[in-house]
Formats: sequence, structure tokens, C-alpha cells
Amino acid sequence: GEKQPTNLNVLAEEYLKLSYHGLRAKDKSFTADYKTEFDPDLPKVPVVRQDIGRVLLNLINNAFYACAERKRCVISGEEEMNESYKPKVSVQSRLVDLGGIGGVEIYVKDNGGGIPKSIIEKIFQPFFTTKPTGSGTGLGLSLSYDIIKAHGGDLRVKSKEGEGTEMIIYLPIEE
Ligand code: ADP
Ligand code: MG
Repeated sequence: GEKQPTNLNVLAEEYLKLSYHGLRAKDKSFTADYKTEFDPDLPKVPVVRQDIGRVLLNLINNAFYACAERKRCVISGEEEMNESYKPKVSVQSRLVDLGGIGGVEIYVKDNGGGIPKSIIEKIFQPFFTTKPTGSGTGLGLSLSYDIIKAHGGDLRVKSKEGEGTEMIIYLPIEE
């Protein structure tokens, strides 16, 4: 694919809706509050749209999955829903300046179960997954990392067990 100047707010919103409705189609009982908090003046960024779209979808799918997992809890062998927990996913964008080098950051945040410290070093490794066989390939984050690096950017994670996860995409504005 070729790089095209892209409004990442538009792309991110599209994939947020796609992901949510995709998950709801599989599980009608799942609901989450999801929202965007975009910098309305975000400049266009040169990206291979299909590739960055895949990254957004991977991160957003992971976020909703983490919420759905936290919602389910097993009490004495019986699966029950954690009714007091309200799943939340948000995607934010902002313009950043790293010593004169302009870039944008896209945040994908969830209030799911978070990532334990003991595995956080491994999540970008190919085939690393904590999901049951058949529901995760463990390739989403490693592929996403490679795509972002190929764009001269960076992909970082901040997470707290029991609180949630924040994935941060950084992309430079200049080619
Ligand atoms: P997969 O989704 O197929 O498991 P990924 O590469 O997308 O593969 O993610 C690897 C692992 O990282 C997941 O199995 C999960 O343990 C952890 N992970 C990724 N995103 C999140 C998140 N938002 N919240 C909690 N854990 C996450
Ligand atoms: Mg994944």
C-alpha cells in the first residue's frame, strides 16, 4: 500500500464503531460506553490506511475484549455477571511536539482487567496470548508494533491490574 495523508480521527472513529458492533453481533448481551475525545485540529498524517486501520482494530478489539472479560466473573464454579462494573473504552487523539518534530498520538483506553506486570514484557511477542485456544492468535500486537515501526512511529503500553489499559500509538507527521 501507499501512504496517503489521513485524518486519523475519522479512521479511528470508523474502527471504534466497527469493533463495537462486531462484538455485539457475537454477544448481544455485551454493552459498553465508548467515546472519542479527539483534537479537532489534528493534522493529517501520511499513513498506509489499511495498515493503520488494522492496528486500530487490533487495539480496540483487545480493549473491548478486556472489558467483556472483566464483566464475566466466576463465583464458585458458576459464571456470573459483574453488574456493578461498567465497561468503558475511549479513543483519544492529540498533537505532540517532540523537540520540534511534530507527531500525533492516538490513545486507546479501556477499564478492563489490566495486564499483569509478569506478562507485560511479552505482549508484543508474536504468538503470545492469554486467550483461550481459538479466540486469540497472539499476533495482533506484534503485527501492530511492526506496522507502527514501519511508519517511523512507536507503540507503547501503560496498564494497571484491576484498573485498565492504555495503548499509545505515536506517528510522526513528516515523512
Ligand atoms: P490476542 O488478542 O490474539 O491474544 P494480541 O497480540 O492482540 O493477541 O495481545 C496479546 C495479549 O496481550 C492478550 O492475549 C492479552 O493477554 C494482552 N492484552 C492486549 N491488550 C490488552 C488489553 N487492552 N487489556 C488486557 N490485556 C491485553
Ligand atoms: Mg488481539
